[in-house]
Amino acid sequence: MARTVVITGGASGIGWVMAQRFAALGDQIAICDADGAAVAQASQSMPAALVTQVDVRDERAMDDFFARVDDRFGAIDVAISNAGTGGPAGPMDQMDYQDWADCVSVNLHGAFICCRNAAQRMRVQRQGSIIVMSSTSGLWGVPNRSPYVAAKWGLVGLVKTLAMELGPQGIRVNAICPGAVAGPRMERVLSIESSAAGVSMDDMRATYTDGVSLKRFVTADEIADMAVFLASDAARSVSGQAIAVDGNTERMV
Ligand code: NAD
Repeated sequence: MARTVVITGGASGIGWVMAQRFAALGDQIAICDADGAAVAQASQSMPAALVTQVDVRDERAMDDFFARVDDRFGAIDVAISNAGTGGPAGPMDQMDYQDWADCVSVNLHGAFICCRNAAQRMRVQRQGSIIVMSSTSGLWGVPNRSPYVAAKWGLVGLVKTLAMELGPQGIRVNAICPGAVAGPRMERVLSIESSAAGVSMDDMRATYTDGVSLKRFVTADEIADMAVFLASDAARSVSGQAIAVDGNTERMV
């Protein structure tokens, strides 16, 4: 039976790859994303989906988005809190407070609003799977990336806690912790981190791949594979976990 899968930040990047994967499995897709152009493109490419422009930090707009999902599809089976932003790079003691707050707000506060909406519905349904996109930055420290790292660790705490609160109702909550994912976002991250560290992009790229056992970036498809598993009955006993899909990080930059 077709499930309903909600994905925040789902109009491009990893979110869009996951949306396409779940749609190919026959699921109904609801996407919100802050980027109007990406929303228009996703909407055109996936006409059966509900695709709407919403910033995950906007509590009221997010509540409205979930209400629209209710109206259109009924139950929500899978909620993927994926929207995130890399935020600023630089030493913490020189970081602008607003830059810090903006990054934490998208990555952590946005996830709270998404998870709260999903949890309210899943508690009534007594079933559901919540997947939160953390990062290997949620498992390690990363110099010059303090707001992103703090937010991604915070998401692991949210997942561990929500899994305990919702487990008795049969709802599972897990985090995926991707390593460096090949694609445009990682190119942007390499650019800001190499400038902050005063090294070339190629040197920064090599630092990433040298630090993982498989010596390569992972792919968005591999993240989608994990999301499909966590959403499935095959993962029926998996909850409260922060699962790295990273080629095994041995050390961070
Ligand atoms: P991306 O920048 O390519 O895509 C993120 C999507 O989220 C975009 O469509 C963007 O418009 C949307 N978005 C950003 N801010 C938003 C907001 N405030 N409200 C709603 N939508 C918003 O990034 P990605 O690589 O696809 O990353 C997806 C998730 O995976 C993020 O949470 C990211 O932190 C995490 N992650 C990515 C990597 C990587 O290497 N790409 C590694 C670890 C974790």
